[in-house]
Amino acid sequence: MTSPDRARLTIDLDALACNRAVLAAEAPGAEIAAVVKSDGYGLGAGPVARHLHAEGTRSFFVARVAEGEALRTELAGRDATIYVLDGLVAGTAGRLAAAALTPVIATLAQAKVAMDLSAKPGGLEVALQVDTGMNRQGLSLAESRTLIAAPGYPGNLRIVLIMSHLGSATDPHEARNIEQLARFHEAIALFPGVRTSLAASAGAFLGADYRHDMIRAGISLFGGGPEERPDPRLKAVATLTAPILDIRALQICDRVGYGSGFTADRPMRIALVAAGYTDGIIRAAMGRGQAWVAGALRPLLAVNMDLLVIDLGEGQAEVGDPVELLGPHALLDDVATAAGTVAHEILIRLSTRAERTFVGASI
Ligand SMILES: *Cc1c(COP(=O)(O)O)cnc(C)c1O
Repeated sequence: MTSPDRARLTIDLDALACNRAVLAAEAPGAEIAAVVKSDGYGLGAGPVARHLHAEGTRSFFVARVAEGEALRTELAGRDATIYVLDGLVAGTAGRLAAAALTPVIATLAQAKVAMDLSAKPGGLEVALQVDTGMNRQGLSLAESRTLIAAPGYPGNLRIVLIMSHLGSATDPHEARNIEQLARFHEAIALFPGVRTSLAASAGAFLGADYRHDMIRAGISLFGGGPEERPDPRLKAVATLTAPILDIRALQICDRVGYGSGFTADRPMRIALVAAGYTDGIIRAAMGRGQAWVAGALRPLLAVNMDLLVIDLGEGQAEVGDPVELLGPHALLDDVATAAGTVAHEILIRLSTRAERTFVGASI
């Protein structure tokens, strides 16, 4: 219910569609798949995925089986491939099959299970992740060779996608990108004819060599820049605002909030805002972050559980006015940098206390 003291999270689906178009233009010829793990980066996997589906997205990635099951329900009646990045975790094969989810095989042990399962009538469709130097999920080159040399390979195992993940794509000058690309070429040569995917959002901006058949786009769909700083081509999808509860005057040496907080070094005006770390404003942004109010970005002096204190400066604001904590002025990547984290974490921390509204095209 609309309440004047609540933070508001507005999710702009038109901006989401624009960002998808930016990625498509950046990677011509590649399919733009949508990564909607962690409830669509905290913005709502269902509405986000349905809107992207209407824009032409047919491949989606989640991390957990339960996320895949929920997404399958959200996309009921729509033609969509849902990949589960955790792969074939023991005990989940039945659930993966029931929800028609495609596991992304992440270890050699999982690949062996997949081979066994594929013996049943109808076979088994999987994606395969290869590790090219991130040392997270995926079969090494040696393990990939072991798999293709296994007796009975491929049998009824249908590998529909070979993918890998870049560890340093946000830095286009990192030699690690080139090393991973070279290893990826070695790996995909072992699986001729299978579609390939190396790039997530940042990788899509590394040039033609990194595009392959599919981009697995997450953060850039939601406005996060490929180099962890604002990119003017991408639009803000999430806007978080909260109202001013009070405006107060401080004298020199007045202390604000808890002990570790702020001491006024001049007479100043501060705004008390109805949001806090409960709403996903990272506490570490205290003293470093900024919020947009009265036509300017102004310093965040304190971040408490339910309250923020902002230096109003000369700004003309009134009680009840909205303060933008994230959005088209308080930019996602700047908010993340000030909090010492990445854009992904800022989005997934936006809690459900805020009143959520989706704007833009109908869903
Ligand atoms: C999360 C993830 C992505 C999406 O990454 P972004 O940086 O958000 O675009 C792509 N691929 C894999 C394997 C991931 O884990």
